[in-house]
Amino acid sequence: MDTPTWSIAIHGGAGTITRSSMPAHKEAAYTEALSRALQAGEEVLRSGGQALDAVCAAVVMLEDDPLFNAGRGAVFTHTGSHEMDAAVMRGDTLDAGAVAGVTGVRNPILLAREVMEYSGHVMLSGQGAEAFARQSGMVFEDPAYFHDDFRHRQWTEVRDSDIYRLDHAEGDERKFGTVGAVARDVHGHLAAATSTGGMTNKRWGRIGDSPVIGAGTYANDRTCAISCTGHGEFFIRSVVAYDISCLIEYGGLSLEEACQHVVTDKLMNMGGEGGLIAVDALGHLCLPFNSEGMYRGWARPAQREVSIYR
Ligand code: ASP
Repeated sequence: MDTPTWSIAIHGGAGTITRSSMPAHKEAAYTEALSRALQAGEEVLRSGGQALDAVCAAVVMLEDDPLFNAGRGAVFTHTGSHEMDAAVMRGDTLDAGAVAGVTGVRNPILLAREVMEYSGHVMLSGQGAEAFARQSGMVFEDPAYFHDDFRHRQWTEVRDSDIYRLDHAEGDERKFGTVGAVARDVHGHLAAATSTGGMTNKRWGRIGDSPVIGAGTYANDRTCAISCTGHGEFFIRSVVAYDISCLIEYGGLSLEEACQHVVTDKLMNMGGEGGLIAVDALGHLCLPFNSEGMYRGWARPAQREVSIYR
């Protein structure tokens, strides 16, 4: 593959997403939403902007869309609230910011960026993160803004049990609706961003892989930028994003080899379902998943694609 001047990939979650179970209108809505988010990122990169701005622009669009389990449309916790996680990382400085278990914040990814740039810390959680958000002038919304009938129904099916489910899980169907973006800009810098509502009926205080730097999110100009989606507990235990970076840095693997090894070999052997999006230092892209589908899209100059199924 030629070295592209810039490249970007986005995801809107992975899982049992099959053509036969997807009504045409829903497929069109997802495709349209992914395309708009991708475009937001592309515009930044095409005009010479930073990878960090591109991934944040794409993720904000996905957070604002109730189709995805992040921001508006976040899943319900066991106590009927929304506790959101998000992280962002830049590959040039290795600066990172993350928030965990935040409620009411309209765009958790912007709060994660604020944490990175102005808090002096890497991760803030719960009420402390919310207090920092208010102090920073972040936009808050009422619970009604985050309410989605479909996700409320998912939750009422399991709220009286200890079962916690992945987004969209109905019967045997398993989907993860987390969103993310990775990009390489024309200056050669990488960035990654991930945002999620987590898992339906998750325990109070449960934190997934998305805000954990090195697990669900990682960026390093020397290797790659990664954003994951899937059963977070497995992604944390496998330190997925940093593992891929290490396979490139210390093992000399290509992005493609490192991603395939971690997603189809290591994770699968543990029973960890999901996928990720990745870009390497030269702008090569890789979007592997071990589930049946993953909402995804990628773009480079004069090339773009949005897809859902395997
Ligand atoms: N990885 C997320 C979590 O475990 C869920 C998802 O990807 O949808 O919180």
